[in-house]
Amino acid sequence: MRLFEGTAWDRPPKCERCDRLDSECVCPPETMAEAVIPPEKQTAIVKTERRKKGKWVTVLTGLEPQPAIIAKLFTQLKSACGSGGTIRDDSVEIQGDHLNKICKILAENGYRVKRR
Ligand SMILES: [Zn+2]
Repeated sequence: MRLFEGTAWDRPPKCERCDRLDSECVCPPETMAEAVIPPEKQTAIVKTERRKKGKWVTVLTGLEPQPAIIAKLFTQLKSACGSGGTIRDDSVEIQGDHLNKICKILAENGYRVKRR
């Protein structure tokens, strides 16, 4: 018996997705695949910016915050450009001006790409 069973406080644990009691839930377990928003549904915005000491960086924004996917893409971009980079809260930076190369790699990965 639940602590508050039969009182106004009683809130049986319900599934948020199907609204059935947890014990009656028929939802499949959440998988990574379900959480993933495919590249075709994302628009990557790529631009170059000049930083202090006149250094250029290529900045990539607009991607969904999917850490595993961003990490993989980041590795791919760094290796293709032969550059270092940084992952920030809402952007990925690759050192140097690699606008064309990065746009091409994103497109090959299926992303829609906008240059700024
Ligand atoms: Zn459910």
